[in-house]
Amino acid sequence: MRKQIAAANWKMNLSYQQAAGLLDELLAQQIELAPNQEVIFAVPFPYLAMAKEKVAGKTNYFVAAQNCSDKKSGAYTGETSVEQLQSIGIGHIVIGHSERREYYNESNAVLATKVDLCLAAGVTPIFCCGEPLPIREAETQNAFVQQQLEESLFHLTVEQVSKVVIAYEPIWAIGTGKTASTQQAQDMQQHLRKVLADKFGADVADGISILYGGSVKAANAVEIFASPDVDGGLVGGASLQAAEFTAIIQALK
Ligand code: PGA
Repeated sequence: MRKQIAAANWKMNLSYQQAAGLLDELLAQQIELAPNQEVIFAVPFPYLAMAKEKVAGKTNYFVAAQNCSDKKSGAYTGETSVEQLQSIGIGHIVIGHSERREYYNESNAVLATKVDLCLAAGVTPIFCCGEPLPIREAETQNAFVQQQLEESLFHLTVEQVSKVVIAYEPIWAIGTGKTASTQQAQDMQQHLRKVLADKFGADVADGISILYGGSVKAANAVEIFASPDVDGGLVGGASLQAAEFTAIIQALK
């Protein structure tokens, strides 16, 4: 059975005190997860150790970094390597969020390198993909997102790609309050699973969790997550509020 995942992407929000308080509030809910369900908090770098400590001992709760360097180690001032993250017990890293692609010029090729570094260190990449509005308006989104997968993931072996989590996030739906319709999300995610099946085989594609991201909130999570090819969500704004994110976790299949 595929993993169903509620991943919080806090981005560059919250002070240390606010972050600790939010985690305390959420974890106090004692939400019981089914064996196939996971909750992941992608928190700012300075809070990783604190967040790790808070989820320690909670089954199927994990902490993720929001980014990593595309270099292995060495003289890269200000960068943080996958191995460094792995050495403090981080097992998941968000790779290629659209904000990184857009504001920090991360190309599909650079993201392929980051995916490789994650897999080499035994860290799960949460690989983000998704089209900007003009591409959606031109109705070429399927080819566009397919190319993102081809250029960043298609060099992997079957064994490697099985360890990747994919998050489809249409850029026009991120932080805009404009969610893709349930049908739009399902259509794309079904397409991506087929693309993966054609390349890696149906069994492999069937096992890969594909999350939806873009204005997921308590009010729409149940409907969006109910789609057969949607395996949970990557949640920005609504993950900053305990009650909202609690409801989103509870909406997992
Ligand atoms: P949003 O962000 O939920 O605030 O739209 C999603 C994301 O960027 O991961």
